[in-house]
Amino acid sequence: MINKDLNLVNTMNDTKSQASIESYKFHHIDTSKCLKCEKFSCEEACFRGIYHVINKDTEPKCIVLKEREDRCVKCHICTTACKLEAITID
Ligand code: SF4
Ligand code: SF4
Repeated sequence: MINKDLNLVNTMNDTKSQASIESYKFHHIDTSKCLKCEKFSCEEACFRGIYHVINKDTEPKCIVLKEREDRCVKCHICTTACKLEAITID
């Protein structure tokens, strides 16, 4: 019974975390992590200008500028710079 309950909780957590991931062509941002962000390092780190953080004073959220996404060279400077590990790149 405990295992069954645990599985249900795990499933709910998976669903919750997946719900906060915004996917672009090959960038994926866990925007629930952006809500806790104070440094917005992604914007500065990407020399290709691929990220923009909106609502910095209220509910920060990193977005990928779709028209720039293909400029990405997959250097992973951004994934290192984002200490909250909100960014994944395929
Ligand atoms: S992607 Fe990372 S650095 Fe950028 S706003 Fe979100 S949490 Fe902050
Ligand atoms: S991998 Fe490099 S080029 Fe691509 S978004 Fe991150 S910092 Fe920018």
